[in-house]
Amino acid sequence: MEERDCIRCGKCTVVCPLYQAYRTEAMSPRGMLALIDALDERMVLPTSNEVRRVLENCLFCQRCRKGCPVRIKPMERIMDGIARYGGKRRLHRFISRRISPLQKKGTLIFPGCVIERSETLFKAGLEAVKSLVNDFGVIRNTCCGAPFLEEGNLALAAFALERISHIARNAKRLVTLCPSCAVTLKESAGRFGIKIPRVLFIGELLKPNYKKEKAKVFHFGGCVSEAMGWAEKIRTYLRDSGVDVVSSEKALCCGKGTRRKTKRTNKRLSDALLENLFSEFKKSGCEILLTDCPQCLVEIRRLKTNASLLFDFLSAKSTSE
Ligand code: SF4
Ligand code: SF4
Repeated sequence: MEERDCIRCGKCTVVCPLYQAYRTEAMSPRGMLALIDALDERMVLPTSNEVRRVLENCLFCQRCRKGCPVRIKPMERIMDGIARYGGKRRLHRFISRRISPLQKKGTLIFPGCVIERSETLFKAGLEAVKSLVNDFGVIRNTCCGAPFLEEGNLALAAFALERISHIARNAKRLVTLCPSCAVTLKESAGRFGIKIPRVLFIGELLKPNYKKEKAKVFHFGGCVSEAMGWAEKIRTYLRDSGVDVVSSEKALCCGKGTRRKTKRTNKRLSDALLENLFSEFKKSGCEILLTDCPQCLVEIRRLKTNASLLFDFLSAKSTSE
């Protein structure tokens, strides 16, 4: 698709959690796109740390992709801007190992690095997959490349994606346990011209005929799942399955995007976003906070809350494909 010009309508700005926190145009997708245009046109020089700091505040939550009348994906342009005007090198332990292609031809599960770090989540993820897919292989020790994209290191991101392309070259599809990995694999591989099998997030496999469960949950899909429309479908699925589901449009972001230990870290913003999510959860009167995103889970558990990951909650309850 051809590169389009932003018409500055502000639809992306009103849904941006960064803007909600700061209420300043500079901390909004529209403002950041304007800044990148100004940098490209040399109206602003990329020498000041302030310029980089603004771009690097983006939470990479994907919310701004929804509803743009000229179908721009602001986050991709912001990542590209960081690659050209900010960014730093960092080698991920997952991509420095030697690899060979897996022989499995059907479905490969891509757990993602957050799930792989937790034996409990990894096992729960595989249990959930077993109830949805008959036969599958698992890709271990890999990174989807998102951390490099966020830091503007396109070379390492492409390297990580090439690696997955190589491992999965015999497979028909990849099923990820993390919504962010799904979007990165779906979209960024294409951007770099790297061939990857069809990608699905595990939430996309759910079917509305699963056994009735009595439970009341507060569902926060996580920014990416909400932006991709998966969270809404998951809520419908849960309701059809007898679960009492509460959600809130005011629960915007867990704050993880700006808590990572990089130069982008903004602890005050991160704390404010997490507190806001927690207060929406408390208002709901629910006892369980359910999220689709493993990164959100890690963040939410910092509050010692009864939080659960979608597939952990569903494991052993879903029907077969
Ligand atoms: S990705 Fe999220 S934080 Fe970044 S500009 Fe878009 S809506 Fe705002
Ligand atoms: S990126 Fe799209 S939604 Fe955002 S201001 Fe520009 S035209 Fe409007």
